[in-house]
Amino acid sequence: MVQKREDYELAYEQAKNAPPKEIDCELVSYVTCPWCGKEDYDPWEYDQSDGDVEEIECGYCEKTFWVQCMITVKYTSKKEPWK
Ligand SMILES: [Zn+2]
Repeated sequence: MVQKREDYELAYEQAKNAPPKEIDCELVSYVTCPWCGKEDYDPWEYDQSDGDVEEIECGYCEKTFWVQCMITVKYTSKKEPWK
C-alpha cells in the first residue's frame, strides 16, 4: 500500500503534538528519575527500609524527586537442602 504524502504529514503532526513519553518510575527495580528517566543502579547508597520516603537529587538532571522504598520478600523452596 502506498501512503499519500498527506498521511505522512498527519502522522508527523500527531507525533509532534503527542505528550512526552511516560517515564516508568512506579514499582520499578531501580530508582528512576521521574524528570529525565535516568535509572540509578546503586540503590544501596540510599539505605532505605520498607516504606521509607526520601527526597533525593537526580545525579543526571539535578532535579529533586521523592522515592518510596518498597521491599518485597520472595521465597525459594527445595526438596533437598542447599549444598
Ligand atoms: Zn533526572
